[in-house]
Amino acid sequence: VDFKFAALVTEVVEDLQRTTEKHRLINEFNYEGTVHADRERIAQVITNLITNAIKYSPQPGDILIRSALHDNEVHLCVEDFGVGIAEEKQEHVFEQFYRVSGNKQHTFPGLGLGLYISSEIVKREGGRIWVNSVENKGSTFCFALPVQQSR
Ligand code: ATP
Ligand code: MG
Repeated sequence: VDFKFAALVTEVVEDLQRTTEKHRLINEFNYEGTVHADRERIAQVITNLITNAIKYSPQPGDILIRSALHDNEVHLCVEDFGVGIAEEKQEHVFEQFYRVSGNKQHTFPGLGLGLYISSEIVKREGGRIWVNSVENKGSTFCFALPVQQSR
């Protein structure tokens, strides 16, 4: 089903902003078009990325959510300024039950499933998902979904 991408992102962001007082979720969308995908599952992916950004940013801070069109894809990125992920661990974070261990003074509860499920959903919709991160600086998780240009 086709749905308005920006409206979905805004819905998820507004829901999750209610769950945190110390983070400010900033939603910048530069794509006003539609996406052809399972709306509820894409909502789940966006939720997983933003809840991770909140969870792994123990200090108060902004979380930036950006969407934009790149060629025939819409990209959605969630950037945080939290604990980050060491370079050699980044390739593993989409694996089932993988969790980065030894995170200094903080421990974060979880199963290690959110990113695995997210990557399965995105792949099933014909897209891809990736991360850029610097340990102790922050992380940017992005996914891309194909969009029809003939509209
Ligand atoms: P859950 O199943 O509840 O989502 P989880 O958050 O541990 O548990 P994933 O969301 O799959 O599992 O993330 C896998 C691991 O990747 C996390 O345990 C964490 O170590 C790391 N990670 C994910 N997102 C971030 C982030 N924004 N910043 C730093 N580390 C992250
Ligand atoms: Mg998670």
